[in-house]
Amino acid sequence: MVSRVIPVDPFDLVIFGATGDLARRKILPGLYRRYLAGQVPETSRIIGSARSEMDHAGFRDFVAEAIAEFLPKARQDGQTLQRFLEHLHYIPVDARGDGGWAELAGFVRRDVVQAFYFSVAPSLFGDIAERLHGYGVANAEARIVVEKPFGRDLDSAKALNATLALHFAESQIYRIDHYLGKETVQNLMAVRFANILFEPLWNARHVDHVQITVAETVGVGGRGAYYDKSGAMRDMVQNHMMQLLCLIAMEAPYRFDPDAVRDEKLKVIHALQPVRPEDIVRGQYRARTGVTPEPSYAEDAENPASTTESFIAMKVAIANWRWKGTPFYLRTGKKLRARASEIAIVFKEVPHSIFEDEEGWRENVLSIRLQPNEGMTLSVMIKEPGPGGMRLTEVPLDMSFAEALGEDGTDIPDAYERLIMDVIRGNQTLFMRGDEVEAAWAWTDPIIAGWEARGEKPKPYDPGSSGPEDALMLLHRDGRRWREIRE
Ligand code: NAP
Repeated sequence: MVSRVIPVDPFDLVIFGATGDLARRKILPGLYRRYLAGQVPETSRIIGSARSEMDHAGFRDFVAEAIAEFLPKARQDGQTLQRFLEHLHYIPVDARGDGGWAELAGFVRRDVVQAFYFSVAPSLFGDIAERLHGYGVANAEARIVVEKPFGRDLDSAKALNATLALHFAESQIYRIDHYLGKETVQNLMAVRFANILFEPLWNARHVDHVQITVAETVGVGGRGAYYDKSGAMRDMVQNHMMQLLCLIAMEAPYRFDPDAVRDEKLKVIHALQPVRPEDIVRGQYRARTGVTPEPSYAEDAENPASTTESFIAMKVAIANWRWKGTPFYLRTGKKLRARASEIAIVFKEVPHSIFEDEEGWRENVLSIRLQPNEGMTLSVMIKEPGPGGMRLTEVPLDMSFAEALGEDGTDIPDAYERLIMDVIRGNQTLFMRGDEVEAAWAWTDPIIAGWEARGEKPKPYDPGSSGPEDALMLLHRDGRRWREIRE
């Protein structure tokens, strides 16, 4: 199956923070892949910006190195790369000062689609927004893309929304959550709303529970001090996992339109119940001892007294007609057994079993893998082949997107490149609206305030495990168990 490339209008895309980690690893290589796909019009320009002094040629060398480092060799065609590099330019600016802004205003065209990607610390968002406006760089339809974290609580998120709103309308603001750019995540909507099969079963009558797992094998080393101010709840649950939960739980929007989709997601967030303290388990990884010792979380965070969680598991209830009685279990953590992200919709048992083979019987599970190997699997029960009576066995109906697209997986667009193209097209469906972010913080804040008031310390867990023992109990107590974390 050949994927269709939908052309976009010529654009000037300015990347603030163009010398940073995110730009180097994701944004710039992603744009090159879009160029290879024929989606970057020949008159379009990508303009890097940061404080570092560099000329256009220096930036082109920088980008060529990033592409060499972060794209598979097979994607690196020398001639095409040279043509791509001609689209690149660099203007140094200081977000907090006046240096460079007049030059940028003179360089950026006003008669093409304008997009400004704020790939910088959130503390600079307001400064950049103000100067884009004050120096007359941005036209009336300019789009701005802002990175996470969007605030660290409700008050700071509100303040950030208010600051951006001084200079840009909501329709111009693209709050990025790269989980929403993943092929599988969008497929969740296609599977639900483009098939008759699932929707009739997609409710508390037929779904026993939902599990959302985002497991990483890496620790926080290198960015420990930064992470220590955030923790798993702020870093993963409030944004990425909340978005996944919304896409699973929302009602069908009346059409696939940015505000229609976001209205439905917002209703889910409003329906989330406060979480009881006994329904949350927080954890922090221990040091690894033995032949290859590794530091503990507290050592990585350079904070011996840290009470920040590197793991969280929680049981969440949605108070509406569709989901009353169906728990959503969320789990995320660092230094776990495998790098694996999965949504599992676990269906209820058949109302009455006519078969004697109780042992072979398993419930149906729709598993949606986000990484690695994006794809979906539906487990169904069949008769074990051959003679020997009616013995049951579970088989997967498997759909790996790489296989379905007839590719080796390297041609599936990365979440960032897909989202950047949506910005250029002016499609906000996969971006968080301001009220959504605030509602998510309004639900998160009391949970964090609760454990802070109780002075709770996270439970230690071993690196390479599935998290603290108490997290297993969270499901055992309900007669359920977590799915295995495996790649
Ligand atoms: P980073 O590596 O620290 O890069 C920061 C960039 O900002 C650099 O290009 C830096 O260049 C520029 N900068 C700093 N101060 C500036 C100023 N006063 N004026 C103009 N430019 C300035 O950060 P990052 O990891 O790329 O992250 C960027 C944003 O993406 C952050 O909001 C982060 O939370 C978010 N994010 C990052 C990742 C990731 O994987 N890295 C993932 C998700 C979200 P100069 O020093 O030359 O000015």
